[in-house]
Amino acid sequence: MVYPVCIGCSSGIRYGQKFKVGDGLGKLFWSVRRLSRVNSNDFICQQCQLMFVRWTKETNGEFKNFITNDIEKDEAGFNGEVR
Ligand SMILES: [Zn+2]
Repeated sequence: MVYPVCIGCSSGIRYGQKFKVGDGLGKLFWSVRRLSRVNSNDFICQQCQLMFVRWTKETNGEFKNFITNDIEKDEAGFNGEVR
């Protein structure tokens, strides 16, 4: 069986949950960390997701307006508009 590869740490996600990068801040975060484009459908492992969550807490919403006011709700309707 082939496991999805985490774009954060490049390891196969065998255990724990896997998370999608999505179109929100995660995409920005992983793109910057990798210095490359990332796909919204790429996967990250639980450990890397924790790192991302820690970053969002650390920055205390400082970057959420880069994307949208409400990432979860607006994700489907987000059209790349700069506010
Ligand atoms: Zn990972």
